[in-house]
Amino acid sequence: MRKAQAVVEEAARGRLETLAFDREHLWHPYTSMTEPAPVRLVTGARGCELEVDGRWVVDGMSSWWAAIHGYRHPVLDAAVRDQVERFSHVMFGGLTHEPAVTLGRRLVDVTPTGLERVFLADSGSVSVEVAVKMALQYQRGIGRPERRKLLTVRGGYHGDTFHPMSVTDPDGGMHTMWSGLLPEQVFAQVPPRAGAGTGHLESWMLALERQVVRRRDELAAIIVEPLLQGAGGMRHYDSECLRVMRDLADEHGLLLIFDEIATGFGRTGHLFVSELVTPDILCLGKALTGGYLSLAAVLTKDAVARGISGSESGVVMHGPTFMGNPMACAVATASIDLLLASDWPSRVASINERLATGLEPLQELPGVKDVRTVGAVGVVQLDHPVDVVAATDAAVAAGVWLRPFRDLIYTMPPYVIADEELDRLLHGITEAVKAG
Ligand SMILES: *Cc1c(COP(=O)(O)O)cnc(C)c1O
Repeated sequence: MRKAQAVVEEAARGRLETLAFDREHLWHPYTSMTEPAPVRLVTGARGCELEVDGRWVVDGMSSWWAAIHGYRHPVLDAAVRDQVERFSHVMFGGLTHEPAVTLGRRLVDVTPTGLERVFLADSGSVSVEVAVKMALQYQRGIGRPERRKLLTVRGGYHGDTFHPMSVTDPDGGMHTMWSGLLPEQVFAQVPPRAGAGTGHLESWMLALERQVVRRRDELAAIIVEPLLQGAGGMRHYDSECLRVMRDLADEHGLLLIFDEIATGFGRTGHLFVSELVTPDILCLGKALTGGYLSLAAVLTKDAVARGISGSESGVVMHGPTFMGNPMACAVATASIDLLLASDWPSRVASINERLATGLEPLQELPGVKDVRTVGAVGVVQLDHPVDVVAATDAAVAAGVWLRPFRDLIYTMPPYVIADEELDRLLHGITEAVKAG
């Protein structure tokens, strides 16, 4: 008995030491080193749950929207394990391997026809860098080197490295801080929210057209998150906006880039939003590996690849050290196969239904400005910035992991979430809203 007690105390001491070192030495995302916000210790993960500070909570975040199959999935675990036993990594310069080729084949198969040239990058932000580089090199290659700017819409998010930051929402803080340093891009208005009505849609489209026409000789490409703006504000807009972008891009010789790092692999109810409107360049990331390893992909059309070949160097000037990492490729293929073998469309539809029904009553709570859902995404927008610490504490106390930002408390659960877990998640969101 006393021995067991000693073991428990030892473990608790170990946890405290871990957290103390973390606090002193490790940077967390968007966090001060000197005044760090509290972090919680994860000691396990299985299914849709995380073991946080010693108790199991439902993960409403899918580890930043990536873990669509949940944690410790036997098929995904096996994919990584099997690859480790062959080889973990080799350079991709001058060498290739079956995991990369199989993944490339899968990506060409599952994405819309025409997107058939694949660049494997190591993170979402890097894939956006590569997409931008492709667009600029393409314009150079076809003899339009003066076309160097990107057009995007306000309210977007494309990553944290410099070019992605330059097309991220200019009101989000990144721009004022880096003004003079970031490439200056062209910003159109936020697309009207889905269902806003044809009047709003038409005036937005006309404004966009005017902007494109005015700046066409400077513009290389249009880049957006199609249908759903994620980290820039969780806004769902009409796919008509994408059709207009496609038409304008074609008419004026710009490339259309879709950043589907968040929307890809079924999150909005479409396997890819690109099935509605096909872009010239497509970025994928996040759920690509089922949340197991960092990997992203850029797919483009043959015509773009050919255009790039006409640029000075004739090649895409990019080649990360860990390009095409075999373990990441193997688990990505396994994750895609798992997704396609599942009835994901009805899973996403049923998650949507339960989220919509469960979140609707929150509309009546004080401080709530809006409640919305799209696919397997549920959003509660407050009329004030969320008190993240209070909201997170309340959620964890209710057995749920959430990570609100700005004025948003939201969830993007794993697709395999059970109804009982989803109900617990809804309860956690309610508690977070009340506290936040
Ligand atoms: C997360 C995200 C990125 C950045 O991906 P990282 O892997 O974090 O670099 C880019 N674009 C969108 C739409 C994202 O959601």
